[in-house]
Amino acid sequence: MNWLKKYWKFYLVLVLGAIHGILTILNKDQTVTAVILCVIGVLFALEMIKEMIETFKEGRWGVDVLAVVAIPSMIFVNDIWAEWMILVMLTGGESLEDYATSQADKDLKALLNNAPRFAHKLLDNGSIENISVDQVAVGDLIVINPGDQVPVDCQIISGDSQFDESSITGESLPVPKKIGDDLFSGSVNGDYAVKAKVTKLAAESEYQTIVNLVKSAQAQPARFVKLADRYAVPFTIISLIIGFVAMGISMHNNPSAAWSVHFMRFAQVMVVASPCPLLIAAPVAFLSGMSNMSRHQVQVKSGPTIEKLGRAKTFAFDKTGTLTKNSLVIDQIKLATTDFTKDQVLLLTRSAESHSNHIIANSIVKSSDEKLLPATNVQEIAGQGLTAEVDGHKLKIGKASFVTDDKIELATTTAVYVAIDDKYAGVITLKDQLRPETPSTIQDLKELGIQHIMMLTGDKKEVAEAIGKESGVGTVKYELLPGEKIQAIKSAKHRPVVMVGDGVNDSPSLTAADVGIAMGAKEATAASESADAVILVDDLSKVSDAVRIAKWTLKVAKVDVLIAMAVVLVLELIASTGIIPAFGGAILQEAVDLTAISLALIAGIEPKK
Ligand code: ADP
Ligand code: MG
Repeated sequence: MNWLKKYWKFYLVLVLGAIHGILTILNKDQTVTAVILCVIGVLFALEMIKEMIETFKEGRWGVDVLAVVAIPSMIFVNDIWAEWMILVMLTGGESLEDYATSQADKDLKALLNNAPRFAHKLLDNGSIENISVDQVAVGDLIVINPGDQVPVDCQIISGDSQFDESSITGESLPVPKKIGDDLFSGSVNGDYAVKAKVTKLAAESEYQTIVNLVKSAQAQPARFVKLADRYAVPFTIISLIIGFVAMGISMHNNPSAAWSVHFMRFAQVMVVASPCPLLIAAPVAFLSGMSNMSRHQVQVKSGPTIEKLGRAKTFAFDKTGTLTKNSLVIDQIKLATTDFTKDQVLLLTRSAESHSNHIIANSIVKSSDEKLLPATNVQEIAGQGLTAEVDGHKLKIGKASFVTDDKIELATTTAVYVAIDDKYAGVITLKDQLRPETPSTIQDLKELGIQHIMMLTGDKKEVAEAIGKESGVGTVKYELLPGEKIQAIKSAKHRPVVMVGDGVNDSPSLTAADVGIAMGAKEATAASESADAVILVDDLSKVSDAVRIAKWTLKVAKVDVLIAMAVVLVLELIASTGIIPAFGGAILQEAVDLTAISLALIAGIEPKK
């Protein structure tokens, strides 16, 4: 009986209305139902006043004033039916908003329902025990049968198969996996059983990370009302003025009439003035826009994000992993020493870099399968590199200026310099390739009216400018330290500013921007959590899709609200002449609401390219 509990006010009002109606038709005494309806009306009005005071404290005052005025007005002129109609509208609107929010919750529920529950643990004696995913420990061996969901993040140790990762990455084609490959919880095994070693607890595994992300998105209150708020104040004032003027005209034309006759005019205007299109239509449009984005694998965390994204003037992109592919390939290893071989330098570097989340570090670690050595005293300096001790050697890895003071030959591509025991040892150069979709994405953004596009990178001038040219971004800012990236975002003249980062190590700049977009929840870390939107697939073109949808959503919401307000104002003017009886006015108003809400759903359809 969840629905009854949730929407009880609405049902109560409907039932009371029905009883009142039957009593009227049977010509029985309706005092009791009338009194109950009045009492409920007053209680609802009081509740709204309370809420109004709360929102007022947040510096907003809204259209609720009109509803609060309308209810007592109706009671005052003793038009129970009109009062009832307003109650239907208010409680109905509230229920509708709840319903819309719960639709958005459905995604989350589906996600939670599909969460992996069991794992087949392989015991030492070779037998298999079915345990709950929460009991799985790192290092356990598990068996994943054909058709099974991968219970926790793990690594294949025998067998190979294809895995459907669509629930995590949105990638619809099955991905082949062999010994040594990582499996993500939530993906589904294809045709062959594999054995795997657990690498992460269930709570830290990929699936749970995405669940948390969506949860944190939903935990943000549905505050889409910003847009509506902007129109609310003038709308309320104009409506009240029309009401008072109507009352004044009535007094002027008919000075001898009773006071209640004049007040009736005011009440008639207030009935049609109720502001539901503003209160509900805009949120519905934003919810539709958000669900449209999530169909495009873009998880937006709140309504205001859509609004800011739709009005964005400046875009800032991180380079490595964002404009360029998120894995780099080692090009060359150039030694400056004879004390170590290339393989030794690579192994030491890989061992140290395995403690970093940087995309460059990940790429270097993945470049070989050789077993890593333990590294101690690892210290990473953001935007510079890291120091560590491996196999008795002191390592310094990163930018040339960070690694050594010697005059060394600098690479012309993205490169990682290595010093061993305070002596410069050589450089590992990497191929930092542009994503294939980068130039068209930048072009799309320009066509969508984004005039200021910049690239922010800690990398060297030559590399940065080459990538900048290839990708088409207008402004290239290079050799930036993390703090300078934040400064560049904060000082942008044309706002709102959107920062797109790789989701691995860009959280400070994502937070600094008006809208932070993180690429790839797969590597979900701090950055995805500090971002306002997360692109769940490894595809930069989702950025321009998101902007297109945001603009469309904003447009639908705006046009819808403006039309509804215009219609309501016209109705108010007509009502001020007294030709619309209050009850009829309430029905008209309801029709406007329903139309406005239906139109808001247009935000959910696909905008044209
Ligand atoms: P980007 O803007 O290209 O993403 P960052 O600001 O994260 O770059 O880092 C700037 C530079 O610092 C990198 O290009 C790299 O040379 C160096 N660097 C940072 N972290 C590391 C690391 N863990 N290992 C090696 N080099 C690093
Ligand atoms: Mg980066």
